[in-house]
Amino acid sequence: MLDQALLRLDEAAAHVALDPDVLEKLKYPRETTKVRLMIRMDDGSRKSFMAWRCRYDDTRGPTKGGIRFHPESTAEEVETLAFWMTFKCAVMNLPYGGGKGAVRVDSHALSKAELERLSRAYIQAFARIIGPDRDIPAPDVYTNSMIMGWMADEYASIVGESAPAVITGKPISLGGSLGRDDATARGGYYLVRRLADQLGLEPGARVAVQGFGNAGQHIARLLAADGYRIVAASDSKGAIQRADGLDVEALLAAKNQGSLVALAGTNGITALSADDLIAVDCDILVPAALEDMIHARNADRVKARVVLELANGPITPEADAILERKKIVVLPDILANAGGVTVSYFEWVQNRQGFYWPVEEVHERLKTMMEREGAAVWAIARDRGISLRSAAYVHALSRLANAIQAHGTQQFFTS
Ligand code: NAD
Repeated sequence: MLDQALLRLDEAAAHVALDPDVLEKLKYPRETTKVRLMIRMDDGSRKSFMAWRCRYDDTRGPTKGGIRFHPESTAEEVETLAFWMTFKCAVMNLPYGGGKGAVRVDSHALSKAELERLSRAYIQAFARIIGPDRDIPAPDVYTNSMIMGWMADEYASIVGESAPAVITGKPISLGGSLGRDDATARGGYYLVRRLADQLGLEPGARVAVQGFGNAGQHIARLLAADGYRIVAASDSKGAIQRADGLDVEALLAAKNQGSLVALAGTNGITALSADDLIAVDCDILVPAALEDMIHARNADRVKARVVLELANGPITPEADAILERKKIVVLPDILANAGGVTVSYFEWVQNRQGFYWPVEEVHERLKTMMEREGAAVWAIARDRGISLRSAAYVHALSRLANAIQAHGTQQFFTS
């Protein structure tokens, strides 16, 4: 997985004048710590879980990245996600490097009390690695604001003082930022709106959303409110579609009660398998579930004209090449889903200032940054005749290279 991610770095390097030091620095994670967390279960037994925290690169600032609770997490997945975070923060010009963490666990199999003990155990194990000026975690797949609140509380009790800036995505009442809940989707939404003309998207354009969690639900709500038609949506249990559009409120209610598939058979809604969602006839496909969902064996089935990558790494490099041949425009993850880390950055700034912004200010600042970086990436792609993904990496790599080279290059030390 990391090798595949590094292909993007090699590709971008061909478009930027680089000192060899830059690639040497960015090819390897700086540190990955592996710990076995032990917690007491409700039945009195002890159980252990593998956990990781990776700080990939901190040249541009403290490392930043979510913590994922997933039964299939691996060290390599964590390092790959941390690599992507390094580039995502650079694309948005945030003063951060990239990091990521995970616990290999099926969190649905834990009781609420066990989940709290596991979240606190993670911080007990990694308290020396994280910190407001060192490494700042956030939520990711199957972690949420309550878990971030437990984690911030555990960190505060270890260091003996309140330190809300150690973690972002906290509940509002514990120092979270207004506007963080829908920030990932909102960033993607501002990007689509900014580029709608260039992408040939018109009011009423049809959208299919893969994955109906935090990112998927909010993008469906925001695009529907703007007149887009949500024609299909899926979760891990299956998918549903309706050519005239689905009612987003009904989707949210069904998901809250279990799964979207409960709506199949009502109001002309038909069911399809979760795997078939990517082949639905639509204008925008929004992968908002997990990695590698569009791969060499199914990319040919994509009918959308535009893919908005809210998930991290939903398209493999082989699938990317197939979509490019089909002239499908991909708005790449490191730009399209960067709204989440951008509002996390706002949360960190507000925690450090002790001064909190109204939601309108959060939205306005996010919009400005998404539009500015989106337009810059679009211009690089247009001027160099490369994909938006390559352009986003070129944009980020230029910033990373400037920072790495500012410490002196090979030429500087040998001349
Ligand atoms: P989430 O846990 O809230 O939602 C994930 C959703 O995907 C769930 O509804 C689940 O049922 C669904 N799913 C799982 N397997 C599926 C399958 N095979 N087909 C269809 N749906 C499936 O997670 P999230 O926070 O919305 O994150 C989703 C993606 O967005 C991840 O790749 C994550 O890394 C990325 N992301 C999230 C944020 C954020 O702020 N939440 C920020 C940046 C990137």
